[in-house]
Amino acid sequence: MTTDFDALARPEIRALTPYASARALADSAGILLNANENPFPSPGDPGQGLNRYPEPQPPVLRRRLAEMYEVDEDRLLITRGSDEGIDLLIRVFCAPGDPVLVMPPCFGMYALSAQVQGATVVEAPLVEQEGDFEPPADLVERAAGCKIAFLCSPNNPTGNTLTPELVDSVCRAMDGRGLVVVDEAYVEFQAAPSFTRRMRRHGNLVVLRTLSKAHSLAGCRLGSVIADPAVIGLLRRIIAPYPLPTPTVNTALSALTPDALAAQAKSLATLADEKQRLVESLRKTDWISAMWPGEANFVLVRVPDAAALIEAAADAGIRLRNQSAQPGLDNCVRISVGAPAENDALIEFLGRWRPANQRTETPP
Ligand code: PMP
Repeated sequence: MTTDFDALARPEIRALTPYASARALADSAGILLNANENPFPSPGDPGQGLNRYPEPQPPVLRRRLAEMYEVDEDRLLITRGSDEGIDLLIRVFCAPGDPVLVMPPCFGMYALSAQVQGATVVEAPLVEQEGDFEPPADLVERAAGCKIAFLCSPNNPTGNTLTPELVDSVCRAMDGRGLVVVDEAYVEFQAAPSFTRRMRRHGNLVVLRTLSKAHSLAGCRLGSVIADPAVIGLLRRIIAPYPLPTPTVNTALSALTPDALAAQAKSLATLADEKQRLVESLRKTDWISAMWPGEANFVLVRVPDAAALIEAAADAGIRLRNQSAQPGLDNCVRISVGAPAENDALIEFLGRWRPANQRTETPP
């Protein structure tokens, strides 16, 4: 079935007249007196023409990202990180009360954006099975009635990945009725290919990519929503007039040249080695009761007292992330893989710290 995305969108979004920015109405050639810009560059501008508004969707960057992700340009919307993509999808498609499926433990912004919109969050919690986290057996049934299902592969914070067969089943169950959004923030760290390859098969499949992780550009705020052109068209109706700052666009273009990508691949290889080293060290740490290495640039561990570990690590100048508030992750801590010296410091700290029940008290 082909999905009628217009019918799926909120009627208010279909009815509104999108804001037409000066840059959207006319290109930036000639004498520019149409956007109330200051013609004089700022003394703080490092020569990037920041007195001018940026292109809403810079064609050169869009082409480059589409090429890299191996998708057609008209299927790609550049956003301020995946965070904005998540928010736009919910605002366009979910009316208050519409069900949005999430699979906790997972990235918190799916549920938060849904709650801000007044949508109903439907949980399909992952199940801990044979040392791994698995989607629940009734995932497809739970997703079937939802407007959007947020899947994440590799998942944050558990690192598990989803099989193509399962994603296919969810797409089929929601065909014509809802969108399946696969968040691939960490996909470059895994061996298997992106789910973008399955978009030809499923019109309702949406993939989120970002430059924040494997591309080392979290500070740039640049993500992509990859979807059917009709979905992209709907998201463009409500995206901010100038979402992409010029320095962000320029930096992204520099980072995506073939030379830059080759250099980046070397740093990813280093990160993979470092992860291996960290995992081996964590495995030898006797008070760590469980570890999920996963397929991303972090490791999840279970410890006797997560809060105590986080506090002691902070005292040693190391910040770790407590995941205990997430369902099923009692006393679990997420550790991002750092640079070699940072991992050395962590390994040294873990080697000398003991949980309270293992400390040998020195008599007063
Ligand atoms: N998705 C997942 C799974 C994440 O872990 C994160 C950030 N931690 C994001 C999306 C947000 O990415 P961005 O920086 O592109 O907004």
